[in-house]
Amino acid sequence: MKLMNELGVPVPAHKSHVIRPIKDVTLEQRERALRETEYNMFSFPADLLVLDYLSDSGSTAMSELQWAALFHGDESYGRNKGYYVLLDSIRDTFERGDSPREAFKLILSGEKDVEKLMDELYLTKEEGGFVNAGANQLSRPNAFITPQGRAAEHLLFSTIREVLDEMNGPGKPYWIPNNGHFDTTGANIAANGIEPVNMFQPGVLEEFPWEKMDSENPFKGDMDLERLEAFLKEKGRENIPVIYLTITNNTVAGQPVSLNNIKAVHKLATQYDIPLFFDACRFAENAAFIKQFEKGYEQRSIRSIVQEMFSLADGFSISLKKDGLSNIGGGLFLRDKGEFVKRFSTAKEDVGVRLKEKQIVWFGNDSYGALSGRDIMALAVGLNEVVDQSYLYNRIGQTRLLAGKLAQEGVPVVLPAGGHAIYLDMNRFFEGSDMKIDDFGGVGFTIELLRNYGIRACELGPFAFEWDQKNEEQRQGILNLVRFAIPRNAYSREHIDYTVAAVSELYKNRDKIPKVKITRGAELRLRHFQTGLKPVY
Ligand SMILES: *Cc1c(COP(=O)(O)O)cnc(C)c1O
Repeated sequence: MKLMNELGVPVPAHKSHVIRPIKDVTLEQRERALRETEYNMFSFPADLLVLDYLSDSGSTAMSELQWAALFHGDESYGRNKGYYVLLDSIRDTFERGDSPREAFKLILSGEKDVEKLMDELYLTKEEGGFVNAGANQLSRPNAFITPQGRAAEHLLFSTIREVLDEMNGPGKPYWIPNNGHFDTTGANIAANGIEPVNMFQPGVLEEFPWEKMDSENPFKGDMDLERLEAFLKEKGRENIPVIYLTITNNTVAGQPVSLNNIKAVHKLATQYDIPLFFDACRFAENAAFIKQFEKGYEQRSIRSIVQEMFSLADGFSISLKKDGLSNIGGGLFLRDKGEFVKRFSTAKEDVGVRLKEKQIVWFGNDSYGALSGRDIMALAVGLNEVVDQSYLYNRIGQTRLLAGKLAQEGVPVVLPAGGHAIYLDMNRFFEGSDMKIDDFGGVGFTIELLRNYGIRACELGPFAFEWDQKNEEQRQGILNLVRFAIPRNAYSREHIDYTVAAVSELYKNRDKIPKVKITRGAELRLRHFQTGLKPVY
């Protein structure tokens, strides 16, 4: 185990091979750039930053094996070799537990035995899992490669709507419950006239002692089972096309979901005969939490935990820009002949065929899904590397380290730390000051952090969630957080120390943090991406 050794410090899991120098930008230069980009975090040029915690999406540093794999990228339009390799990596990671076949090594090693390549890669006949092969993928398509997670969501929810309208008549109301819909997931569901419903566990912001982060975890990302059961009873099977479970729960501060909770949700889904889907973006980080903190799983391998988790799903959508350890990619996968396929196939048409047609119309041939062959090869390797225990313990350990150090400095950070990010509680941050909720203190904090120290973070609070545009009831669910999402494999302890020093300094001087006014586009949708702002000093 590489979490801690007898020295009481973590054993490093990787070292740098290529470096990117950070530019020497002055405070005045950052002030000018902030002014000219309307103080909007998303508009600030990344090249002028010291550290960037805006998102962990696609910002990973790739491994040497992934870079080597890029050279094997095959840009053929139909059935590039990476397609076979990627699909087999999906089987390896999500279905084969401790017995991965690692077919990508056939390509990386330059295998020339044609019979072997045909038998083990190009002409296999898999079926029954998430990725049919050969003729089975042609007649019953169930694996759809996409450029991002949201593209997979768009494929899935537009198809669900279409089939429901054909079966039950147009315009009927439907609901999709989730332990926490990601913003694009909720938006893609709503765009198809279905209502996304969040079933967070109560108590996300409840205090947790930082000293216990290495020994305990309350799995705050779990689905609220009582609410789910009451909801299923109230709405009934016919009005709920699928149940969703997001692992880890990004919307709830990146908190993990326990296997016990996954099993309980699966049991309810089975009882009500409703397909269960995962939003699987951070499945590997979630498995690492289960191994470290859930009773009965201490001795299990990450791979076997992932296998058990996914044995409970009828399908999953995923952004491979997260735990695919890659810069781009996503996908939608359905269990062959599973509950979802049964429910959404009609006498006329297999639902997989419907999905494949849309995939071709929107994202190109099904064997590349709007990705380059190079990206596909990097992904095939990344999916096998992300379940490495040393990598994962290093990853979630780094997030925990950042949270723990901030907590020791007295900074109000949500505890325990999630997998990919730490969140500051801005209500506690500004407690006792005259900063009101619609002064957007969280935004003021991110502006000062960037201006003074070149560190970019992101407000996820009253500004991003449009407090001023909402009524009293809608305002209830809005938390007041600032998120630091940590890129994978990119930063070391040095970067963490710099961040802790900068944030602590701002916390000490919080009375000088400016209130913020919206100068342009307050009524725009997704406004944190496009609104103009101004700090009032
Ligand atoms: C990132 C993310 C998505 C969407 O994926 P993209 O690749 O950004 O389109 C969906 N769900 C969760 C939980 C995510 O974190």
